[in-house]
Amino acid sequence: MTGAVKIINDLQNLLFPASCLCCKALIPDSSQFICVQCSHQLPLTAFTDREANPCEKIFFGRVPIEQATSLLWYHKNGPVQHLIHELKYHGRQKAGTFLGNWLGEEMKTSPRFNNIDLVIPMPLQKRRHRKRGYNQTDNFARALAQHLEAPFRNDLLIRCDTTSTLTHRGRKTRIFDASQSFEVISEDLRSYRHVLLTDDVVTTGTTLESAARVIKKYSDIKVSIATMAITY
Ligand SMILES: [Zn+2]
Repeated sequence: MTGAVKIINDLQNLLFPASCLCCKALIPDSSQFICVQCSHQLPLTAFTDREANPCEKIFFGRVPIEQATSLLWYHKNGPVQHLIHELKYHGRQKAGTFLGNWLGEEMKTSPRFNNIDLVIPMPLQKRRHRKRGYNQTDNFARALAQHLEAPFRNDLLIRCDTTSTLTHRGRKTRIFDASQSFEVISEDLRSYRHVLLTDDVVTTGTTLESAARVIKKYSDIKVSIATMAITY
């Protein structure tokens, strides 16, 4: 760091001190996202290398998934909830890069994930994307793609907007909701063999299952999954 850059950095830290994404405590170094204490307390799953881990078990008997993993355990009101809340609702997009780099380090040393040739983030519905201004999974997926040396594509899987058809029959209004549907650009998808589908938190796995089903329906690509966190 040159003298001038250091002065600017110090000044920035002084004027806009960085706060920990988990506990909001001020941290002296604005290049860090969480404080030392929180980084030691984050509940790591440490199951990336393990077959039939809890993330994989979610999809057993539902849709064929090659491998799956999650970086952290998600507890209600726990530090991971705060972290992901900051990422989703307060624009702290660097949290996604931070978690992606962490999991990417784990995944690139695991032979279970060594033939991924495409990384796709779980898309948001267009309306929600417009409102939030970004997809909270993009940076996480970008960081994973970099570590796995695979292309990142957020244009091949599309989340269809909720189609609300209003039918007026007398005084009754009926709304049809198909919020879980996806479309794929199948021609482009066919040039890949093993996609890593990524999301923020996996709980029931319904959305990831729907996306994996659509991907597999239109191509014979293998599907693996990586998420920032998994509900405990
Ligand atoms: Zn903290």
